[in-house]
Amino acid sequence: MGTFETCLKLEDFKTPEKVGGEEVLIPLKNEAKIKIKRPEKFNGGKLMQRDRSTYTGLPRAEIDWFPRIDQEKCRPEECNFHCVEFCPFGVFSKASAAVQVSKPYECNVGDESCRFQCPLDAISFPTREELREMLRTVRAKHQQN
Ligand code: SF4
Repeated sequence: MGTFETCLKLEDFKTPEKVGGEEVLIPLKNEAKIKIKRPEKFNGGKLMQRDRSTYTGLPRAEIDWFPRIDQEKCRPEECNFHCVEFCPFGVFSKASAAVQVSKPYECNVGDESCRFQCPLDAISFPTREELREMLRTVRAKHQQN
């Protein structure tokens, strides 16, 4: 499970976009499975040292972008907890025989690469429009303050 083929940087799948008059970085929609050749680059590299408490100046904890797991579909005994191994940010964790999203706000905003790794299509994310709406709402709140 999970041969790693390409080393991606966060910048590789982001593109500037106007949201509520502000230019923010929205990751490109991932159409195919993203595989990481050298996961140690993620785990030990600059990406892990970034300030993860904000996203484009907004508090990360106010942006509800993170994976959801359909426990009806999820069978970790079949994939050997692949998403737990795949995510370099520790968003998923093992909980007995199941998987839980234990660090949702460690997830890269807009990144849904793990979704394409799940062999059982058990991982889902908000839509791009829902993400845009979240960002508009949080930005508007902070512009008022
Ligand atoms: S969500 Fe998918 S990849 Fe993660 S443990 Fe369940 S079946 Fe495996």
